[in-house]
Amino acid sequence: MELESILLPGVDGKRPLVIAGPCSAETEEQVMETARRLAARGIKIFRAGIWKPRTKPGGFEGIGVKGLPWLKRVHKELGMYTAVEVATPYHVREALAHDVDILWIGARTSANPFAVQEIADALEGVDIPVFIKNPVNPDLDLWIGAIERIHNAGIRRIAAIHRGFSTYDKKIYRNLPQWHIPIELHRQIPNLPIICDPSHIGGKRELIAPLCQQAMDLNFDGLIIESHCNPDKAWSDAFQQVTPEVLDLILNSLVIRDMTQSTENLTDLRHQIDELDNSLLELLARRMRVSEEIGTYKKEHNMSILQEQRYDEILRNRIGQAEQMGMDGEFMKTVLVAIHEESIRHQQEIMK
Ligand code: PEP
Ligand code: MN
Repeated sequence: MELESILLPGVDGKRPLVIAGPCSAETEEQVMETARRLAARGIKIFRAGIWKPRTKPGGFEGIGVKGLPWLKRVHKELGMYTAVEVATPYHVREALAHDVDILWIGARTSANPFAVQEIADALEGVDIPVFIKNPVNPDLDLWIGAIERIHNAGIRRIAAIHRGFSTYDKKIYRNLPQWHIPIELHRQIPNLPIICDPSHIGGKRELIAPLCQQAMDLNFDGLIIESHCNPDKAWSDAFQQVTPEVLDLILNSLVIRDMTQSTENLTDLRHQIDELDNSLLELLARRMRVSEEIGTYKKEHNMSILQEQRYDEILRNRIGQAEQMGMDGEFMKTVLVAIHEESIRHQQEIMK
């Protein structure tokens, strides 16, 4: 893909490129105060949502065009570049009319090819960096499709933002990282910079630092992090925002390892293994929870724990399936027996 550097004048190419600012612009004071404290810590690119796509109605849906002159002030008085989410041609026009420096397309928008195409059409003939978040669903082709639509409009300064993928089970992450997806994106479009958004992946403050480190270890180019002058009072995404001072601490404690060419492939593969093991653990934990529900049902209905016929059936089917997938039947039997034993132990706990 033919691309140009996303670096704006005065922004160095050191990893990571950092974009920071509040989830939403709320008031002129909040915007200026946050931006001042970020600028004082060397942050060069300021993000702020002006139009907010909210999962449910009734939440704060963004301050709207009224907030755009505040961003202009940030640019003029603090010399920071500004970045705004656009979801419609109207957003594009207003952002451009107010000299916003960078546009990004949100996760709900990049999942919709009609919406992305309308934005692309509105960008025809414009030269501005556009960052494209992954769609909410883990569909790499849909993500690449959105990138291609923007590229086809003539935009050359493009980056991808990895913000995780929607999930029903929000136990640890707000949005599952599924790192293998951005890794595969990088394999397919090696010259496309990828920025990680730990705020929307983690959904909570304490996950920001480890997620930033993971992104750096995976060779991501940049980070986009939500930072608010008074996070607890934020009008949106309060749990995941950090003060500019905490952000500074997080960034300063990052270990940036330089990956040498010769081990890069191995490192990528190892990270894939880590990610797969993560998925295995999550699946096992889920299976255990379902098995516990079965235990409760059995207790309520006075059924015995071990249902021989069901167990035989599971063993036979799964071993056959495993062999078809190129795995050893004996190995699969060992794994299944161990899982079954542990399930029974959990159900026995419930029966007590
Ligand atoms: C945001 O960046 O504030 C936002 C709405 O993100 P996403 O599109 O990733 O949900
Ligand atoms: Mn947000």
